[in-house]
Amino acid sequence: MFRKYYKEGFSLNAVFPKVDRREFGFVSFEGQMVRHKGFQNLEEVRVFMQSFVPRDAYYSCAYYENPMAEMERKCWLGADLVFDIDADHIPTPCNKVHDEWICYNCGFAGRGITPKNCPVCNGEKFETSTWLCQDCLDAAKNEAIKLLDILRSDFGFSDKDIHVYFSGHRGYHVHIENELIQGLDSISRKEIVDYICGIGFDGKIGNSTGWHARIRKGLYRFLSKADKEDFIRMGLKRNIVKALLNNREKILMNLEHGEIWRSVKGVGLKTWGKIFDRCAQEEFVKIDTVVTADIHRLVRMPHTLHGKTGFKKVEFQISRMSDFDPFKEAIAFKKGTVKILAYNSPQFRIGEETFGPYKNVRVELPIAAALLLICKGKAEVYQENV
Ligand SMILES: [Zn+2]
Ligand SMILES: [Zn+2]
Repeated sequence: MFRKYYKEGFSLNAVFPKVDRREFGFVSFEGQMVRHKGFQNLEEVRVFMQSFVPRDAYYSCAYYENPMAEMERKCWLGADLVFDIDADHIPTPCNKVHDEWICYNCGFAGRGITPKNCPVCNGEKFETSTWLCQDCLDAAKNEAIKLLDILRSDFGFSDKDIHVYFSGHRGYHVHIENELIQGLDSISRKEIVDYICGIGFDGKIGNSTGWHARIRKGLYRFLSKADKEDFIRMGLKRNIVKALLNNREKILMNLEHGEIWRSVKGVGLKTWGKIFDRCAQEEFVKIDTVVTADIHRLVRMPHTLHGKTGFKKVEFQISRMSDFDPFKEAIAFKKGTVKILAYNSPQFRIGEETFGPYKNVRVELPIAAALLLICKGKAEVYQENV
């Protein structure tokens, strides 16, 4: 199927600038990584991919004098500023349902976000099995919306410099191609990351620009609709919750004039600190901090297929952010069916159609649906029918 896509459906028209200055890397279906590749133009890239048929295709966010040389001799010229938002880093309730990890070293297994170290043997390597559902992709999109707001309002990037992509799997990529940021070193990029993630934020409430105003708005939103359960979940005592709920109007009014701390008798600074932290955490953006700070990073090439889904990495207009539907617009194959043996799959949607759940059944599915299950290791081809 991947072969068919790169032979017939694949176009790379003006996808990214400076093709001849970038390093390319490809992972084969045997799992082998080929990198330090260089091409003069997109046509050469396309011809290579037609014959290689990669499972995953990447290019460097960096530009080099010699993209094909080994790392020390490439001669770095600059790099796009890249942000990666992935459900792997967002705590969603659904990841406890559909994501699993097993420690390579001792076999200890769990559900939810993969830990950095195994709680039993402290090992760092895990085998993971993740799924993408509407909830994770909505959560990732919400982070992307928050990120775009900061990039535009606080950093002043214009829409023409910002490119937004669905990653093809569980998240979104934001690339900034702008002369001003190309030369930033890793330390400066880390500072941008810290700002976006709210690391080192002074915790003051204010009306000024940037984070102070954003968190104040978040506080207002939370306090105007929070119910008893919301407060109790934060670990507040019942009498304090009652005082907060009884004085909602007064608190909101004081928040507008910046004197929230003295709003209610019996509600002290410690409580306000908890409420403030909760709202601040909600506003800070959950990005993969390592990706942005890495000035040599290989990122997935737009318009190529993701080896874990068979979906495309696709770009879309920022203005379409809220309507963008990855389960429809990232679909590479729209015709034909395949017979598969599905071992074990949750329910999922492709376009308007819902499939599954499946447990050890033979089914004939549209190619996109079958491909998703096969790429995810949840099915195998039973008999191809194209
Ligand atoms: Zn372990
Ligand atoms: Zn999910």
